[in-house]
Amino acid sequence: MIQLIRGFKDILPGEVELWQQIEKVARQLFDDFGFKEIRIPIMERTELFKRSIGEDTDIVEKEMYTFPDRKGDLITLRPEATASIVRAYIQHKLFAKDPVQKFYLLGPMFRRERPQKGRYRQFYQIDAEIFGVASPLVDVQLILMLVTLFNRLQVPDISAHINTLGCPKCRPGFKSALQAMLMTVSDNLCSNCIRRRDRNPLRVLDCKVPACRQALKDAPSILDHLCSECQADFTEVRNSLDKLKVPYVIDKRLVRGLDYYARTTFEIQTGSLGAQSAVAGGGRYDGLVKELGGPQIPATGFAIGFDRLAEISGLQTSDYERKPDIYLAALGEKSQSLAFEWICQLGLAGIGAEMDFSDKSLKSQMKRADRLGASYVLILGDKELDEGKALVRNMATKEQTSVSLNNILENLKKVIYR
Ligand code: ATP
Ligand code: MG
Repeated sequence: MIQLIRGFKDILPGEVELWQQIEKVARQLFDDFGFKEIRIPIMERTELFKRSIGEDTDIVEKEMYTFPDRKGDLITLRPEATASIVRAYIQHKLFAKDPVQKFYLLGPMFRRERPQKGRYRQFYQIDAEIFGVASPLVDVQLILMLVTLFNRLQVPDISAHINTLGCPKCRPGFKSALQAMLMTVSDNLCSNCIRRRDRNPLRVLDCKVPACRQALKDAPSILDHLCSECQADFTEVRNSLDKLKVPYVIDKRLVRGLDYYARTTFEIQTGSLGAQSAVAGGGRYDGLVKELGGPQIPATGFAIGFDRLAEISGLQTSDYERKPDIYLAALGEKSQSLAFEWICQLGLAGIGAEMDFSDKSLKSQMKRADRLGASYVLILGDKELDEGKALVRNMATKEQTSVSLNNILENLKKVIYR
């Protein structure tokens, strides 16, 4: 038997209803905040991700699904959505009419990581991006949207972590201070961190190895190195979050793994996911549009891990599962043929109706109706056909109603919608 690829998974009925509901709530929220859906390919030229995500990142160093196509062009299954959305924004000159554009996207991403709980090789993200606004107020709006979404989805125990990454003016000063500190604890760092210490020291703060985390306990904070603009920017973020009553914690170790981020950066963490505690992350990437060949246009956005969200949402799948409204237990050829006509008509009228196509006994049909969770059962046999009426049983209350077979569809609607 051929099994699915390691790290990939099926989302089956029984679980998919929860995903659909999460999607519905998310789409509604994005819609209310003026975001438009964008759909982009799941493959792009490898170069796009290398340039936008940065060579010194886990993603580019070891996680991308990259392969030559039949003509030898290097293509990559998208590991995240921002790069492609920026590519589309530039390619279609979406900034020409109005640089301010808000997009959201739902879809699969691919990273070849070690599969484990909350970490898959094909996983899903809900992504939102705002282009053309330099004000940190829109960063605050994104954080508000995240917190709101998680509340609506009854996710327990969440907290918004925020930090700033400074700007090209003040980050270099912080970088050297951090680098100097890292030199003093080099003996306790993993080999990845040693390499990054020299090339991209901020990323050392991001390391998950416990020994490294311990060694970095007293790392300097970027907050002590901000230029006056970045200082004012971060103060505005905090004041505005306070005003909106969004609780947050300042997390000096929060650096996004991607090179194009600047200033506001944030993550939503939850206590209910174990080691994989980040359920969403985002921040400002003012340099990326230009870097990829567009004009100098600021941008900010976030990505939510859909799989992790589905795992911790307090919504119950069973509340969203569609069950048949009515099951037609038909006995005998004539009844079956009538029942078939009726289930089709009922379906067209928006009433879920099921039947058995193999002329099973009444007992086994009743059992199946029960298993399917049908709200009503109509029993139809020769006797009912002769008398021109049949019983409809309410499966929850066991109450029975006699309905005339003349004008049966209308009569059934009356019982079902009562
Ligand atoms: P992590 O620190 O967990 O590796 P990340 O920093 O790589 O996360 P981002 O690139 O910011 O993650 O992606 C945003 C969100 O997507 C994460 O917060 C997480 O919820 C989710 N995510 C990332 N990688 C995976 C994965 N392999 N499987 C499932 N969800 C994932
Ligand atoms: Mg990762």
